Amino acid sequence: MPAKIIDGKAIAQKIRENIKQQVAPMKTKPGLAVVRVGNDPASIVYVNSKEKACQDAGFYSEKYELKEDIQEKDLLKQISKLNKDKKLHGILVQLPLPAHISQQKVLEAISPEKDVDGFNPVNFGRLLSGNKYLYPATPKGVVRLLDEIGCKIAGKHVVVIGRSNIVGKPVAVLLLERDATVTICHSKTKDLIEECRKADILISAVGKKGLVSKEMVKQGAVVIDVGITRENGKLFGDVDFDDVKKVASWITPVPGGVGPMTIAMLLENTLVAKRKIEESK
Ligand code: NAP
Repeated sequence: MPAKIIDGKAIAQKIRENIKQQVAPMKTKPGLAVVRVGNDPASIVYVNSKEKACQDAGFYSEKYELKEDIQEKDLLKQISKLNKDKKLHGILVQLPLPAHISQQKVLEAISPEKDVDGFNPVNFGRLLSGNKYLYPATPKGVVRLLDEIGCKIAGKHVVVIGRSNIVGKPVAVLLLERDATVTICHSKTKDLIEECRKADILISAVGKKGLVSKEMVKQGAVVIDVGITRENGKLFGDVDFDDVKKVASWITPVPGGVGPMTIAMLLENTLVAKRKIEESK
């Protein structure tokens, strides 16, 4: 039987609708600032869809489109201003940044309380120590998709392909927290096919079209495709969808799988940040 499709778009829409209902009666709306530096076409699309999602959910939002050649110190000054702005509960700096700006310095400059992407080292440390706060949006979205399809995580063997700070590592930690046995693979992994074949849940976060073929997937595995490759204006995942769906039990499409969840989780994180900031007053 072919795999069931995990409809990330519909699941994300349901979450966004729920957030909208929570926000409607609020006197002070959750506020999110989205900062983009330069004119990377993918970043323009992401930032615009994040801004639209904020508006749809009834959030207060601010968008900053800064010049490609902005100096690092000026970007840091801008972030410092946003950190102090009481209307804002979340700050997101769209990555990647131009090469002359230190991504690490910028992520460290965002106040941990407003770090709705969960990339500040303080929140990364909280994640590693099992101290729930703001989890990175994409990994959080992956776990939510598994929960939404009723996939039991505890005791399962999860294989994550990719070890970035943005997706691979945090998704592995979140699933470890949920009592999965986790293997992390990367470009130096000796036998990727053999490692992947052990997975009850296979998560690919690489960005290489067609990396995951049917031969790498155990019969009945759940396959989550985080990867995105753009080719002639079309989006592709890491997974050979048509091939892998013949053996998987569940599979995410690209587009329409993990992507929409990232935005829904960003809104949820902004709401969490607002509540935490208000509680700490
Ligand atoms: P990244 O920083 O480039 O990391 C890619 C990872 O893949 C690295 O750990 C790399 O290993 C590993 N890798 C590369 N080639 C490999 C191979 N042949 N076999 C096994 N592993 C390999 O990328 P990222 O930021 O984590 O993003 C990963 C993908 O997810 C990208 O396509 C990105 O666009 C997408 N993404 C999607 C969303 C969404 O909302 N859907 C959000 C974020 C990212 P090494 O560490 O050894 O180099």
